[in-house]
Amino acid sequence: MENFARINFLGASGVVTGSKFFIETSEQNIMIDCGMFQGLKALRELNWENLPIHVASIDVVLLTHGHLDHVGYLPRLVKQGFQGKIIGTAPTLAIAEIILKDSAKIQEEEAKKANKEHYSKHQPALPFYTVEDVEKTIALFQVEIDSKWISLSEHILYRFQYNGHIIGATFIELDINGKRFVFSGDIGRRDDYLLNDPKTPQWADFLFIESTYGNKLHPEEDVEDMLSTIITDTLYKKGTLVIPSFAVERLQTLMYILWQLYKKNKIPNIPIFVDSPMGNNVLDVFKRFPKWHKLSPEAYNMMCDHINIVQTYKETWDTIDDPRAKIVIAGSGMVTGGRVLTYLQQLIDVPTTTVLLVGYQAEGTRGRQLLEGAHEIRLFGKYYPVKATIKSIESLSAHADQDDLLNWMSHIKNIPENVYLIHGEPTALDAFRVKIETVYQWHVTIPKLTDVDKVII
Ligand SMILES: [Zn+2]
Repeated sequence: MENFARINFLGASGVVTGSKFFIETSEQNIMIDCGMFQGLKALRELNWENLPIHVASIDVVLLTHGHLDHVGYLPRLVKQGFQGKIIGTAPTLAIAEIILKDSAKIQEEEAKKANKEHYSKHQPALPFYTVEDVEKTIALFQVEIDSKWISLSEHILYRFQYNGHIIGATFIELDINGKRFVFSGDIGRRDDYLLNDPKTPQWADFLFIESTYGNKLHPEEDVEDMLSTIITDTLYKKGTLVIPSFAVERLQTLMYILWQLYKKNKIPNIPIFVDSPMGNNVLDVFKRFPKWHKLSPEAYNMMCDHINIVQTYKETWDTIDDPRAKIVIAGSGMVTGGRVLTYLQQLIDVPTTTVLLVGYQAEGTRGRQLLEGAHEIRLFGKYYPVKATIKSIESLSAHADQDDLLNWMSHIKNIPENVYLIHGEPTALDAFRVKIETVYQWHVTIPKLTDVDKVII
């Protein structure tokens, strides 16, 4: 084996989304994650460019978890000639399938709409990928064997290790010629409601660590207390509490907390509706993979029995018309699409409504506008006055904060040759770099998009 490896930074380098890292060696060419760029337009447009590598030369893709910014580019990789295996844990591949199919459906609908209304500069507008492209991608999926070292070739081994970010999520260790490359994926938090604590790496010659909250600490909030107060208030007003939620993990966590609050007598028996087709599919992944979370099958069933799962669009309207005080959890988390739009169209101008935002609200989204006190919002082409009360809980994040990240890497027994900070906004990356240099005196690099680093192995 030649004694060097080339690391290509193809995404989540200097930015948060689009995770893609390509490692070339004389034995195998390995891609870690294959995500889509999301957010600002300039970033999203990068998705349309072909990768600056020879795609057909990739032997294998290893996935840390199923979020769109880690798997969303896979169908494009297949379109560009990738024919190898896509390996992930069983729940990661299940989540990836749900997310890719949903993403393809949205892309197809958007292209159709653009062609009908002639607003795209491309004629005809083509979807980024189709459901058929996703089917071809899924055909390459291969489930990994639980937390064991697997050999890819004579001098290359890999291992997936639980890291508690979403169901199935792992960090990936790659041993190349005796040197260990560690890719953190997105790191979860300790004491999560549904997931076990993240495992930690014991050794890393080259560490690639996410920095999403590299400059932040999560606020010390009592989530259960805050929720109880908001729910009591909703009952008193005989109103509706609308919680826009991300379908993967957040929605299931909310279901669990609400069920617990009821069991502990902290809230009365207020009807709870969950309206998210994608959220239901993810709930099913929890049922299929009980070893990957803390809920026992009995607890899972009791939780689901306590909550009304809305199935059809007709039931959405029945729920809106239900005159009782109630809680509705619906996608999407930043109010950019999904069933929550229908609820808000009917309820945002009603003073007894409360909207509770439970996650990061990106710039340019309706969620952000509501958070910043907008007096009206646009839904389905029309403006509606905001008469509802807007609340927010920040601390339900599925990401480790700065302390968690430092703690996670503190288990590494050696001094890494290099630490690459990835998956972060520039301010977070730089603050985290200074922190690591101060605390550990390790060598830290912040790679930029399309950077290539050649390392000795
Ligand atoms: Zn993630």
